[in-house]
Amino acid sequence: MSEPPRPPLRPSLLDPLFAPARGLPGVGPKMAPMIERLLGTPERPARIVDLLFHLPQGGVARRLLGSISEAPPGEPVTLGVTVTGYRPPQAGAGKRPYRVLVEDPTGDITLVFFGMPAPRVEKMLPLGSHRYITGRIDLWDGHRQMVHPSRIVDEAGLAALPAVEPVYGATEGLTSRAISKLAHAALDRLPTLPEWQDPAWLAKNALPTFADALRAEHRPEDAPLPAPDGTTVATPARRRLAYDELLASQLALALIRARSRRGPGRANAGDGQLSGRIEAALPFALTGAQSRAVAEIRADLASDRRMLRLLQGDVGSGKTAVALLAMASAVEAGRQAALMAPTEILARQHLDRLTAMAGPLRIRLLTGRDRAPERRATLADLAEGQVDILVGTHALFQESVAFRDLGLAVVDEQHRFGVHQRLALSAKGEAVDILVMTATPIPRTLALTCFGDMDVSVLDEKPAGRQPIVTRLVSTDRLDEVVAALGRAIASGERIYWICPLVAESEYVDLAAAEDRFADLAQAFGDRVGLIHGKMPGPEKDAAMERFAAGDTRVLVATTVVEVGVDVPEATIMVIEHAERFGLAQLHQLRGRVGRGAKPSTCLLVYRGPLGQVARARLETLRETEDGFRIAEEDLRLRGEGEVLGTRQSGLAAFRLARLESDGDLLEVARDDARLIVERDPGLKSERGKALRVLLYLFERDAAIRLLSAG
Ligand code: ADP
Ligand code: MG
Repeated sequence: MSEPPRPPLRPSLLDPLFAPARGLPGVGPKMAPMIERLLGTPERPARIVDLLFHLPQGGVARRLLGSISEAPPGEPVTLGVTVTGYRPPQAGAGKRPYRVLVEDPTGDITLVFFGMPAPRVEKMLPLGSHRYITGRIDLWDGHRQMVHPSRIVDEAGLAALPAVEPVYGATEGLTSRAISKLAHAALDRLPTLPEWQDPAWLAKNALPTFADALRAEHRPEDAPLPAPDGTTVATPARRRLAYDELLASQLALALIRARSRRGPGRANAGDGQLSGRIEAALPFALTGAQSRAVAEIRADLASDRRMLRLLQGDVGSGKTAVALLAMASAVEAGRQAALMAPTEILARQHLDRLTAMAGPLRIRLLTGRDRAPERRATLADLAEGQVDILVGTHALFQESVAFRDLGLAVVDEQHRFGVHQRLALSAKGEAVDILVMTATPIPRTLALTCFGDMDVSVLDEKPAGRQPIVTRLVSTDRLDEVVAALGRAIASGERIYWICPLVAESEYVDLAAAEDRFADLAQAFGDRVGLIHGKMPGPEKDAAMERFAAGDTRVLVATTVVEVGVDVPEATIMVIEHAERFGLAQLHQLRGRVGRGAKPSTCLLVYRGPLGQVARARLETLRETEDGFRIAEEDLRLRGEGEVLGTRQSGLAAFRLARLESDGDLLEVARDDARLIVERDPGLKSERGKALRVLLYLFERDAAIRLLSAG
């Protein structure tokens, strides 16, 4: 997909906002690098829009006074105090601070000044005077103190203060007050923008314009009300800005969706006979959720619109059977189907399991590892239509792979797939229907932010008869006990996964840890211990997996290669070392490798203490529940959406103004709004459509606009 370079399309109206922030008045050579550090990225300098979108975290009511005894430590407060004593630094004592004692009717604290000449301190705070000081109280060595109050004023100064002063996330050297000044200067550059929201909706929800909302945030008149749980209540201004951002992202997705569905699709479902026979021959009855999903998919396949559907199902919810029946439907219609897995192990496992369930369907495997003659034969059969279902890794979508007539592509376990890859995938055949399966449950809000362009089927029900998994937290001090217990478990015929710690971002370092652990355990249990890791040649990996599946080895020491999808029903014990280093979703996936058979299972989360509060809360969550959706919600709450999605690396939508914890409810509204807009005005040509283009540029969703201009 090579694209010719395009001239910048951004309307000149927005130019003032995309100008460098360091061009603002009052920014000198000292301040410029600090602004870059706070708001710039390696790719681009900090711009005025970045300053405007750097919203204050809260506001301090300046004239609202706190008291020394009740001021919460660590939070900004303004106090009315009397100066009662000086403690100058002792001579020759190096970098000792100047201390000033102050009191109010409720108590006293020490003000601390580093590197400030004594006369200056004494002039600001004359003995016996009454002053209003603002700053954070903290505890140092058991004493309450305030280091460098951010403001010290007298009675007249207090009267002249703004009612509320915004508090920004600052960076070293750049104070909250300096940012506030810059934000004011940036507000002066704000052009008059067309209204892109529906006026009736704004009126109904009593929301301000975009510009007024920014002004209200950066020049607050009321301090935001603290919510009962201590967080800040979203003001109408916040809600407005959050909605603008969410609408921009959902509109971009809706445009992509409209485009990938454009052009006539084809009916890719047959008469149901073949898939009906396959379903009847399954060794189990479908769960209600599976039947629902299959019906939804069949309806999509049968329609002449293109399918773009996400199948979300927790570990073990039975996505494979759903995929098989979907593919069988496509085959009935005379088409071919493809199933893409993220790793070779999984591709092979899919092949085995599909083959076992698929009756007369002709299924073949294609990976990067095939020998040339085999590969040629497979490709020839594929082109002639001698293959019904092709299973494989990314190799499936190489250019040399030509289907006779691909109707359905299923992508397994790929929740980090970006919208652009989805576009590329659908180009592999004529009007290919696409089903994406994710094993990691994604909270509904997040599903919308990255899959807002897709329809969703959810497998929210597990096959009956599953045994619960008992999860325990064990300190690493007790590793010896764990190994001893393992010995007993091996003796009684259990099979065990032992997951090694995530040591670093480097697979090689992780590998060293796995090899060490393997050596230890092999010393204790001999050749009943196997090892598998991502750096092994493919055939060795398969062999290690097979020996474990067959019971030749009883303990499989592994790096996280077994994380997704691997299925050995006889395995009943999962040990995860340094559990505190793994993400919650990842731990849930790993744990899902046991509890797949008829016997009860155990998962030991071995951690190295002491655990911080969040780390402990995460592991506790896992101990308390096996519900992947609950775990995902909790993960989101504890870590924020950027971490959960891995957006840091993948550059997926991370929001600047909206906070999914508090604004998540707006997401669905934005999704529906966006779909309606695209339905009514697909080229964004109406008056509102033009304003919406401005919105897309403002939030840098330019890629979606290019789709528009590409016709
Ligand atoms: P997922 O990929 O969603 O984690 P799988 O498709 O691997 O789940 O299914 C997990 C296991 O459950 C497999 O062994 C599968 O054969 C079995 N299974 C699937 N659906 C059912 C069902 N309706 N009843 C009983 N067992 C089922
Ligand atoms: Mg699976």
